[in-house]
Amino acid sequence: MPKSDQGSGEQGRAALRAALFVHRRTPLSRLLDRRGLGAYRGYGELLEALDRLADRGARLSLIGRSVRGEPLFAVHLGAGSPVGGVGYREGGGVGSAALPAHGEGRSLNGAGRSAAYGAHGGGADEPAPGHGATSTANERTGRFGPPGGERTGGAGPRERARTTVILSGIHPLEWIGVEAHLALLERLAAEDLGDRSIFAVPIVNPDGLLRVEMNLRAGRHRYVRGNARGVDLNRNFDAGWYERGLVQRLIGLVVSPGSRPASEPEVEALAHALSSRRIDRALSLHSAGGAVLYPPANRRWPVADAVEHRAFALRIARAADRRPYRAMSYVRFAWWIRKAGLEIDWLHERHGALSLLVECSRGRLGLRPSRLVEPFAWYNPRKPADVAPPLVEAVLPFVRGARA
Ligand SMILES: [Zn+2]
Repeated sequence: MPKSDQGSGEQGRAALRAALFVHRRTPLSRLLDRRGLGAYRGYGELLEALDRLADRGARLSLIGRSVRGEPLFAVHLGAGSPVGGVGYREGGGVGSAALPAHGEGRSLNGAGRSAAYGAHGGGADEPAPGHGATSTANERTGRFGPPGGERTGGAGPRERARTTVILSGIHPLEWIGVEAHLALLERLAAEDLGDRSIFAVPIVNPDGLLRVEMNLRAGRHRYVRGNARGVDLNRNFDAGWYERGLVQRLIGLVVSPGSRPASEPEVEALAHALSSRRIDRALSLHSAGGAVLYPPANRRWPVADAVEHRAFALRIARAADRRPYRAMSYVRFAWWIRKAGLEIDWLHERHGALSLLVECSRGRLGLRPSRLVEPFAWYNPRKPADVAPPLVEAVLPFVRGARA
């Protein structure tokens, strides 16, 4: 990838075209609708939605690749450059610093990288993903280093536009979050965002989504929580990662937080792409707890800007549905487990952003056995078109940078 193409959007669009070609299938939405699960789009259809956003002026960039080599796309709207100071080089990974010492800390992902890359399922002529080289700075000092030098292959200017980060598709079964996210981006694409920059990654865990889609198409009722290595990406961020309680360690036997902070290429790509940005707002869309949650997740005492967080959380909770969502800190929402390595803590601690996690919809199952046995139905309402629009309106002021 010639350096001059970084940030031009060319790399992102080319990767999207390749992925669209690989993932063209009969629409999943029709199949799911017939089964009473809701007209949710499949991975290929979601990529088509990104393509349409790019047609409408959104800038697309490739920020990395998943364990199985699927592209990780960021959608940029508003001010600022798509790449900022740091770029992702296809084949070169997100950095070329010294290799991290593997096997540090817990190693539940014994399969390791090479085995995972062997299963690379992308296009035949795609270069092998090169995530072997990862930041060592964040392990040693707990911080991602400044952009530049070897890590980036030439540092550009630091991106100083105030940025809102929007994430979804971290947990593979939570597709309402992805649908709400895309509806939000369509809305934002039509607005003048002034000097604000939007950095959105609608599908953080493509391997997980593809696995869920495979199960849905095959009629298998499977619970899927992690990436291709079984790591829960929302326990892999570098935020209190070592502070794990007993229960969490026991649960870790089933759902792994990874071998170290940002051990997973999906999380590392995000951390790297965001490292030089001035992030003051962050929104992560999950499902289906009907709640607006704010930091902390990993400790008990309130964050310094709890009042501001709470004001936004309450406002969104009231507007999200006719019956308001709950609004509280994450640690209160799930007080029985200490939650380390979450994205909202990382975005708040590392970047100082006001960070909200929205549990979209309430997962009302009803009594139909076909829904009770289908994990997809636990997380996704039957009528996404009823849930997404009010949510979009509810989060819009926060995302646009309105004051509390
Ligand atoms: Zn989730």
